[in-house]
This record gives sequence, structure tokens and C-alpha cells, in this order.
Amino acid sequence: MNYDDIQKLFLEKGFFFPSSEIYSDAPAGFWDYGPLGVNFRNKFIESWRRNIVRRDGMIEIDGSQILSKNVFVASGHLDNFSDPISRCLECKSVYRADRMISDISGEMISEKLSNEDYDEKIKSLNIKCHKCKNSLSPVTRFNMMYDVGIGPKGDPSYLRPETCQNIFVDFLRLSKTMRIKLPIGIAQFGKSFRNEISPRQSLLRLREFYQAEIEVFFNPNNIDDVDGFSEVADTTLNIHTSDDKIITSSCSDLISQGILPNKFIAYYLALVQEFYTSNGISLENTRFRILPDDDRAFYATHSFDFEVLTSTGWLELVACNNRTDYDLSSHQKISGKDLQILDNDEKVLPHVFEISMGVDRSLYSIVEHSYKKDGERFLLSLKPGLSPFDIAIFPLSNKNDLPSFSKKIFNDLKLDFQSFYDSSGSIGRRYRRQDEIGTPICITVDFDSIQNNDVTIRYRDSMEQIRVSVPEIRSKLLEYYNK
Ligand SMILES: [Zn+2]
Repeated sequence: MNYDDIQKLFLEKGFFFPSSEIYSDAPAGFWDYGPLGVNFRNKFIESWRRNIVRRDGMIEIDGSQILSKNVFVASGHLDNFSDPISRCLECKSVYRADRMISDISGEMISEKLSNEDYDEKIKSLNIKCHKCKNSLSPVTRFNMMYDVGIGPKGDPSYLRPETCQNIFVDFLRLSKTMRIKLPIGIAQFGKSFRNEISPRQSLLRLREFYQAEIEVFFNPNNIDDVDGFSEVADTTLNIHTSDDKIITSSCSDLISQGILPNKFIAYYLALVQEFYTSNGISLENTRFRILPDDDRAFYATHSFDFEVLTSTGWLELVACNNRTDYDLSSHQKISGKDLQILDNDEKVLPHVFEISMGVDRSLYSIVEHSYKKDGERFLLSLKPGLSPFDIAIFPLSNKNDLPSFSKKIFNDLKLDFQSFYDSSGSIGRRYRRQDEIGTPICITVDFDSIQNNDVTIRYRDSMEQIRVSVPEIRSKLLEYYNK
């Protein structure tokens, strides 16, 4: 299935849709989550908590989305978080210089060239406005943060462009209240905001988007002291090296070959890889791309992008960065607060390894890898724990006592299983509708049900149907969901 098929599914079933869509001034890059999208996202985040956050003994915070100007002076975003742009001198259309040049020249152009270097390339390639063919202005910088004024005087502050700054700013308090011992992961799920110049593809490039970020604080002198490494030593990773080779090997081999720098980084890359493969992305469609020096974010010394192959090409889902003590030392300097902590009697300013996940793109990729056509039916074969609904309940007919009997079963299960009740249309069509939105189990109540106190359970993937007595339904579901 390709990008358009997925888009159609999202819109027609109400997973996701453009925000403010009934108005013609709806800005691009903002999407609403419908009921199915919300259920799906909640389950994805619960899986992240279970497989990474809780597994590793991390703690989680939920910080405010508007942060003070000083936070971004310290983080470097006020100075550095900008895109190179050029405007048409005639029609005022705005272009991203790096993308415009790479679209025309066919080569990858770094975001980090100087404005003069971009001007040079635009001139030598004789690039003009796509719309009116007139000349373009010299390249300038456009900061992608949304500034917001606080109170009547409009005191400067910003919508956060990444969730992680809350974690750095809160580190001092967390280190005291949670009696932190290094290494410690601090996680946060929430919205971030970037004023992208031209958001192109729905959930893949948004101006307001969800991140699930983890910052692992560690003592740089104890980097090989990783408790959990033995659990992942044999986990296979695909590494795309900066000289364009793919190396597939276990974590321990990758370290001994010098492809991964240490056990610490290998351990967290393995957690990311295992998380996605357990949620329906097969290993051969994943890779960690080692970013070359000129492609890394301004705060990182090692960067590994976890990418998944989709119909739109390789898509970056998770940025894994060694941010060193960049953030804590800048916040320490600007705030004047001592952010060092004691690690076994040694006073250290911790370093940070970041695992920054794009949630919206992850949801897109999982759907693309799970959506198929199976003969005549469309099937969203999500892993059981991810489907928007756990079960659907159908009375075969609206006659006799079938609806009240079915409602009673629905009410008994709805608090423990995300349940959908559907009493209209042919039973075949009702099954197809649930197959297409990924519901793994349908429960049908027919005329024999009342007599025998039983129902038919039908499984999405195998289409197998079994007869189960009403008191046994719950244990059958628990067995399937492995709860
Ligand atoms: Zn123009």
C-alpha cells in the first residue's frame, strides 16, 4: 500500500484529518486526531512506556509547552534553529534554499552552508522563482520557533520546538526529589511546534506534532557500565555507515568492529529497534543511519537516525543523539544554577544521550507496514496491543432480545477492552469494516446465543470462528491479548 492508500484510509475512517478543514484559511501542517487516531496513539505510547520507559527504570514528566526566552538562549535555538530561505523579488513566494538547490541539482545540500554559499549555488544554477520565473533575494535565515507574548505586555517566550528542554530545565529539581542515580532516563511525551516553511506531506511534516523523547543522563567516565547490555548483546541492528555501507550484525559484534562507539549507545539503539519490530516493522525495513559531521544537529557529537523504509522512501522516525553536556552546561551558565550532581562521591555534570521519537510519523509507518489487501478484503493487521478497538460486538439482528443481550456483553467488557458496538448492515460488511480499521476480534450474537448463552468469536487475521460460552469470553480475550 502506498502513501495515497494510507491517506485515504486515515481520512475515510477518521484516524486523522486536517485541522480547521471547513475553512479556506486552514493553515497547512496542522492535523486533528479523530477517535481511531487517539486510541491508536494512546496504545502506541503505552507500548513505548512499557517496552522502553518502564523496562529501563526511567521516570516520566509532563512539562509546559510555552517556555521562557532564556531557555532558548541557553539551548541555542534562538541563534541556530533556523532554515535558509530566499524570497521571489516579484511575487514574494518563499523557498527553502537547501531544498530548492537539491531539487534542481540532484545532490544532497546541507542545511549548514553559509548564506553566501547558498547564494553562489543559486546563481551558478541560475535558479529562478518556480511560479513567476523572476529573480530571488539573497538567502536569509528564518527562525522556526513560534514566539508567543505573555500577558498584556507580551513578554517574550516561545512554544517549545522540542520537548526535551523541559527535561534539562527540570533536571535540578528531579535530581533532588527523585534521588536520581546515574545513568537515569527521563522521558516525556507531548507536543512540539516548528514553523516549517513548507510542510508538504500530512503526518510526515507537521508544524504541531507529537514527540516521545527520552534523555538518558550518564557519567561520561562510566560509559561502559551498562547493566542491561547482556539483554541486547545478540540483538541484530542494520547500520548504514557514513560512507554508505550497510552492516548487519549483533550489538556486540558492532562494538568489537568499532562501528558503534560503546555498549551504552548500543544498548539504547537496541531498545529502539526492538520496540519497532515488536510493533510490526520488520528488521529488514529498518536501519540506523550514522550522520556525517556536516549533517548533525548543532548540539550533537554522535547521531544515529533510526529510519524505516516506506513508500515515500526512508523516513526518519527517531533521532538518537549524544548531546554531551551541551544542554546542562549552557543552562548552568545562563541560569547561574549549579546543575552538577554526585555520582559515587564524584561531582559530575552529566552527559546526555537522547532518543527523540517522532510519534505521528511512527504511527503512519506502522499503518503502512500493516495495511494490506487480502483477496477482496482490506486488512489492517496491527499488533494486538495497538489496534484502535480491541473488540467489536455485533447483534446479528435487531429483532427479539438480541440487542439487549449484546449490550449486556458490551457493558461487561467495555471498561477492560476498548469496545465498539455495531448493529447495522450485513454481518459480512461489519466484519470488513473492522478488518480495515484493525480490530482483531469480533463477537457476534445470533439467535442461538440466547438459548445457549454463547457467542461466535471471529479472529481478524485468520478469519477463524469459534463458539464460546458467555462466561468464557473474557478469558478468551485475555488469552489473545496476553494480559
Ligand atoms: Zn515569483
